[in-house]
Amino acid sequence: MADLDVAVVGAGFAGIYAVQAFRSAGLTVRAFEAGSGIGGTWFWNCYPGARCDVESKDYSYSFSPELEQDWSWSERYPAQPEVLRYLNHVADRFGLWPDIQLNTRVTAATWDAERSQWTVATDDGRRRTARFLISAVGCLSAYQVPSLPGLETFAGPWYHTSRWPRDGVDFTGQRVGVIGTGSTGIQIAPEIAAVAEHLYVFQRTANFAVPNRNGAIDPEWERGFKADYRSYRKQAQESFLGVPITGTGRPALAEPPASVQRTLMERWQAGGGMPFLGAYTDVLVDRAANEIMAEFMRDRIRETVADPFVAGLLLPRAYPVGAKRLCQSDDYFAMFNRSNVTLVDIRSAPISSVTPSGLGTADSFYELDALVFATGFDAISGALRQIDVRGVGGLPLAEKWAAGPRAYLGVAPAGFPNMFIVTGPGSPSVLSNMVLSIEQHVEWIRDCVLQAASDGYSTVEAKPSAEDAWMAHVTEVAYSTLFPLADSWYVGANIPGKPRVFAPYLGGVGPYRARCDAVAAAGYEGFALG
Ligand SMILES: Cc1cc2nc3c(=O)[nH]c(=O)nc-3n(C[C@H](O)[C@H](O)[C@H](O)COP(=O)(O)OP(=O)(O)OC[C@H]3O[C@@H](n4cnc5c(N)ncnc54)[C@H](O)[C@@H]3O)c2cc1C
Repeated sequence: MADLDVAVVGAGFAGIYAVQAFRSAGLTVRAFEAGSGIGGTWFWNCYPGARCDVESKDYSYSFSPELEQDWSWSERYPAQPEVLRYLNHVADRFGLWPDIQLNTRVTAATWDAERSQWTVATDDGRRRTARFLISAVGCLSAYQVPSLPGLETFAGPWYHTSRWPRDGVDFTGQRVGVIGTGSTGIQIAPEIAAVAEHLYVFQRTANFAVPNRNGAIDPEWERGFKADYRSYRKQAQESFLGVPITGTGRPALAEPPASVQRTLMERWQAGGGMPFLGAYTDVLVDRAANEIMAEFMRDRIRETVADPFVAGLLLPRAYPVGAKRLCQSDDYFAMFNRSNVTLVDIRSAPISSVTPSGLGTADSFYELDALVFATGFDAISGALRQIDVRGVGGLPLAEKWAAGPRAYLGVAPAGFPNMFIVTGPGSPSVLSNMVLSIEQHVEWIRDCVLQAASDGYSTVEAKPSAEDAWMAHVTEVAYSTLFPLADSWYVGANIPGKPRVFAPYLGGVGPYRARCDAVAAAGYEGFALG
């Protein structure tokens, strides 16, 4: 008999909820977490400026109406410490701590066909057996530091934003370089600029950003909103992105240009990425419509940044707006008007080396006291590939995924019985409000496990044909949009040598949920039950 019914790897939003859901269903469960605290993304990314870009009313658990009513968010887009407090509150409130083991990295997981169970090895030298293995390792948890020649010789400290010192870093009076201008670089740069003697922002790709218009939550508004939270959550579940935004429902190309500009300006003033991007139906599928939105956003950069040369470098032109994660910031572009901030274009003059005193590019040298990498993650598959997972016949998951990550419904990899991946490759995951997608996956997996047991089965395994058909569908949907045109981490383009596969599912959160439910209703169609 296995030690556990369910072994969970990771204790972020996904792992925490998995413990709660499986335990409430009467199963024995244990989550193994490499970090010294729970929270995942919100534990590790404690850099200054870190905050969510989906509103707190959406970016929170919905499984407990009482939790939903009792917890009050202070801001529209809460900062990292508040989200971390929330997750710790959830663990306290539901008494989850006894089933979460911190400071424990899962190093290997091996399917034992004879006993129909997994053997899970951890870096404390122990092995446990579990009937089911749930990966909750996170889409954005394997951080990525680019290999820069000479980095080891740099005399000052260097940091990756996703492994930020928990006591913080004081950059007062220092010359600091930030490498990377994606969501994180855009969040951290203004914070450093406020205290550093000088900030150098090293930019390879100019990115689009919309304002947050962040602010405190009005208690009156909160009371009114919470009165109908349940029906709001239902709308979110049925929506495209996991957030019930209201678009115009029209294509931008079918509307008079002045009217499009008015609509975009209204949404720009209101703030938030999803409502802005979702304004028109053709922006993510039609290049000309996309260019209207892109040019609107470039105009906002032109009118914000005083130096026309700097503004020119900041204009995003390398990809369609929305095809990379849309950044959100209230102060990033204005930051370039400060006299202590320099934008360095490393597209035209790439970084050549790091020396003890700074960083050299093809045409210049920058003296630095500290370096910050805001260079993101080996997304979606990276953290799972770091574990030696072996399925039927000892097949390593890394080998199965040699041509790109894949899983039936984005949740169950064929050849790996009784293994499920929360927000895995082929599910809406990073293209959605992730908390909602996490809840949907955890609940679906729980129901699948319970149903299999009550029908007398001990194994549940995706059929290769079902996985092939699902991944073909994922690819087909992706290639009917503009998304694959960008060299993004959605396709693995930020990791040298990673196969280019569009991993997230773009069919929409609501339709995806309906498909998962239909598979369950049909007796777990596409799965072999044994
Ligand atoms: C800075 C930042 C801001 C974000 N903002 C938003 C947002 O506003 N909205 C949104 O929808 N999404 C956002 N995301 C995405 C975010 O990752 C998800 O929303 C969500 O937090 C993911 O939760 P998770 O539990 O799936 O993964 P994670 O939070 O990444 O947790 C995974 C955990 O697994 C652990 N782990 C990994 N491998 C092992 C192992 N081998 N053994 C043991 N433990 C392991 C890790 O240490 C980590 O704690 C953001 C991401 C980042 C980085």
